[in-house]
Amino acid sequence: MRLARFDDNRLGLVDGDSVRDVSAVLADLPALRWPVPLGDQLIAALPAMREKIQGTAGPAKPLTSVKLLSPVANPSKIIGAPINYADHVAESKQDQAIAYGRKLNHIGEFGLFQKATSSLVGAGEGVALRFVEKRNDHEMELAVVIGRAGTRIPEARALDHVAGYCIGLDMTVRGPEVPTFRKSIDSYCVLGPALVMADEIADPNDLDFWLSLNGEMRQKSNTRYLVYNVQKLISWASDYYTLYPGDVIMTGTPQGVGPVAPGDVMDCEISGIGRMQVRVRAA
Ligand code: MN
Repeated sequence: MRLARFDDNRLGLVDGDSVRDVSAVLADLPALRWPVPLGDQLIAALPAMREKIQGTAGPAKPLTSVKLLSPVANPSKIIGAPINYADHVAESKQDQAIAYGRKLNHIGEFGLFQKATSSLVGAGEGVALRFVEKRNDHEMELAVVIGRAGTRIPEARALDHVAGYCIGLDMTVRGPEVPTFRKSIDSYCVLGPALVMADEIADPNDLDFWLSLNGEMRQKSNTRYLVYNVQKLISWASDYYTLYPGDVIMTGTPQGVGPVAPGDVMDCEISGIGRMQVRVRAA
């Protein structure tokens, strides 16, 4: 099952190149009262609602005719994994326009960072650059969406906590500031095109992916080269903070990061997950 959010917060069931509007099922979600529980209400309810979503008849539209929003609406956290591909560590050490004097040895020493949840957009919304005089880079990543809450999750059970996967773009302003600040600008976290349920992905640590900029290939790798794989990232993150349904882990980027400018078009694909096009503009 593949779920999209589109247009004015419609819920869509994606089938090939079309999307069926199944928003009627959202009426089944319980009314929320203050204080609203942490996490994404729909992702938390998916195990119970899955059958009904798949059985709901709704009008189908071509995917190209809708505006894709982030398939996750309300993550409590967006977690980022820095320096998690060896070839990206190498390029960062060689390029002070990336490293800015930081010691980049190993993710285990660096720790994880967070991106503000307000930075989250979908493919159809595009990236709005705020500091065009600085270097703004694309970082193409596998994004993991948590389905079941957990804390201190052992690696052996980590994948039981995954709802599904998306393409993630960890857009980044380069500079001396801490990553959480530079990577949290509005629209600097793109998720899409849809949330692909975990049971459709046999092994998240063996997925080919690529990103091209204006038609030129820039990043091309496979998640088998992750330094900390998906299970390790989930386990390690949950040693520090409880993971809630809808929380997103951006797993890290391989070599080939580089600057984008207003007018640029990014195309990206992860095998088994899908393909999306994201436009860059000035904010
Ligand atoms: Mn990144």
